Amino acid sequence: MTDKKFNRTLVTTALPYANGPIHLGHFAGTFLPADIYVRYKRLRGEDIIHIGGSDEHGVPITIRAEKEGITPQQVVDRFHNLQKDALAKANISIDNFSRTSLPVHHATAQEFFLDMEQKGIFVKKTEKQFYDEDAKMFLSDRYVTGTCPVCGNTDANGDQCENCGTYLSATELINPKSKITSKTPVLRETLHWYFPLGKYQKQLEAFINQHEGDWRQNVINYSRTWLNSGLTDRAITRDLSWGVNVPLTSDDAKGKVLYVWFDAVLGYISSTKEWAVKHGKPDTWKKYWLQPDTRLIHFIGKDNVVFHTLMFPAMLMAKNEGSAEQYILPDNVPASEFMNIEGKKFSKSRGYAIYLSDFLEKFPADTLRYMIAMNYPENRDTDFSWKEFQSRTNSELADTLGNFVKRVIDFTNARMGGVVPEVAENQLSENDTHLKSQILTRVGATDTEAQVKPAFTITEYYEQFSIRSAVFETMQIAGLANKYFNDETPWKSIKENPEKCKRTIFVSLNVCYSLAIIFYPILPDTSKKIFRMLGIEDDIDEKIKQGAIKWDDVKTFQLRGGHKLSGTSEILFKKIEDADIEPELKKIDQMISDAQTAEQAKTEQVKSEAAPPAHETAAVAKPVITIEDFEKIDLRVGTVTACEKVPKADKLLKLQVRIGANERQILSGIAMHFTPEEMVGKNILVVANLAPRKMRGLDSNGMLLAVEGSDGKLNLVQPQGDGINGNAVK
Ligand SMILES: [Zn+2]
Repeated sequence: MTDKKFNRTLVTTALPYANGPIHLGHFAGTFLPADIYVRYKRLRGEDIIHIGGSDEHGVPITIRAEKEGITPQQVVDRFHNLQKDALAKANISIDNFSRTSLPVHHATAQEFFLDMEQKGIFVKKTEKQFYDEDAKMFLSDRYVTGTCPVCGNTDANGDQCENCGTYLSATELINPKSKITSKTPVLRETLHWYFPLGKYQKQLEAFINQHEGDWRQNVINYSRTWLNSGLTDRAITRDLSWGVNVPLTSDDAKGKVLYVWFDAVLGYISSTKEWAVKHGKPDTWKKYWLQPDTRLIHFIGKDNVVFHTLMFPAMLMAKNEGSAEQYILPDNVPASEFMNIEGKKFSKSRGYAIYLSDFLEKFPADTLRYMIAMNYPENRDTDFSWKEFQSRTNSELADTLGNFVKRVIDFTNARMGGVVPEVAENQLSENDTHLKSQILTRVGATDTEAQVKPAFTITEYYEQFSIRSAVFETMQIAGLANKYFNDETPWKSIKENPEKCKRTIFVSLNVCYSLAIIFYPILPDTSKKIFRMLGIEDDIDEKIKQGAIKWDDVKTFQLRGGHKLSGTSEILFKKIEDADIEPELKKIDQMISDAQTAEQAKTEQVKSEAAPPAHETAAVAKPVITIEDFEKIDLRVGTVTACEKVPKADKLLKLQVRIGANERQILSGIAMHFTPEEMVGKNILVVANLAPRKMRGLDSNGMLLAVEGSDGKLNLVQPQGDGINGNAVK
């Protein structure tokens, strides 16, 4: 644990690649938790800035530009603006969303390179790298695809296998192919600069140990996995034309750019510089990066952990060597796990994604923020489901929070002349003060009599980045308020006991004010609506910045007797009907079936293109399994009773297959090899217990077995014999 005293905080969010729009996975893992944290800290009156931007140099960007026949600059211009707009619509109050293609970033990255080059920190190595002879260029890892040596995924990237998560280098792939020409690349020699990460092993171990206990365990574990296997030199240059040019210290540097892992993290520094210039105080960036009383926090996804806990800190250590300027190291790296979508992993390349801007065209930002925050993938992968989105919006946001606020405001407007009733605080009943102390206990601004304390308070949860628990507890308070209003029945007491009614409304209105404060980090639009109805019309963000509205205001009644409400009443949340989410559910089904069709087509394409002799691949394609593993597969003999083509799907056949007494539908990507007519009547071998899946919206229950010949033609596995239908293979 560190117990340093910090005077300001610098929050960064991982830079999304500017080669696509922001999807809910990005939003859930980085931007939303960071924004909630930053808004909370602003309410605490702390000096905090939220810095980010788009990463505009990744190889995926040049690949996309080539595919679309436009320049990389055009790609990043388009997506940077889309990303920026989407974040604004989602109310992410980022102080600066910069771009790594800007001159200030190129200068910053080159300064780091030159400094380390002059200090002799880098190692230079001649290495063999894949070269595409047709495209006449070296292929960086991302430009190479092939079969993963670990899991057998035929579609692994040269830097990482998306299927099993293993980091790879392109030369480890089985059957490597150039993504540009689809040709098999050759190995050629080229000189590259390496950062000697291993030199910093001891320092990094000490750095990670120092944060044991205050960092999330998954972050410590990921980092230790790397440390335990021993850190080695990491290449920091690439033979590419798009990126930050390696400064020309020698002819060898010609045609090289900085590898994106080295360049992108420095984007946090250049974005802070840009922010400082925009605010007319160009030197203030130094306060945030070079003063040890600044707390640096990186919000990232788990796929980025080692870049932020090992590589970037090592770069900063290297920069600090022998320098008067000392960069601070991260104080915390709250990395998220992944958020899945209806049980499927978010993956742009596989087509499983919901884009932030699409979502916000149909549903308000606050409903999304709430749903995601309640499912923030803090310690484990979580799931986004439309049904849950609907039920949380309707029962928690609309029926609990929205209902309470609207009933209180409407009652005050209709029955109390829209004015906060005059009540002496020492005359409040036990129920009145009980509600207030329950709120204080939960929020953590405790200065009241002892209550049963929750394990942690909302304040403590935020301080330790437990966003989901903080949001959950915040909604509990709305529930308590709703219950109090129901129990006190002001619509009765207004006739029977007007003084009691006044007290109930006085307390309820003040609780509305408290809810507006504690929901501000999560639901900024809703918070502003509540303030507006309460007659607080000014710019709320500005008031918070000036300290006129603050977290600790929940300790005291802020609305005094005689204060006039605005007189208006708004519905905070519209309920979501089944009809609203039906198209979204259909879209997901379509997305999944399209992705499966594409995957299948790709597998077949790779198979038929590669067609290596079986003895070359068989031994390495798959890991060894036990007999128990094999026995899990239910292989049965089936007979095809009917077969037809699937419209608009060139490769798919739809088969009806009888297995014993049952008949089932199986879709198979064999239409290029067999006509429907020749399939009927055949005995085939079926994997009968394969999980059902949808392709093109059609159910497929099982898989038939076939083997490819050297001519690329598929041959069905056809068991021979009488009375074998329905029998299991032994
Ligand atoms: Zn793999």
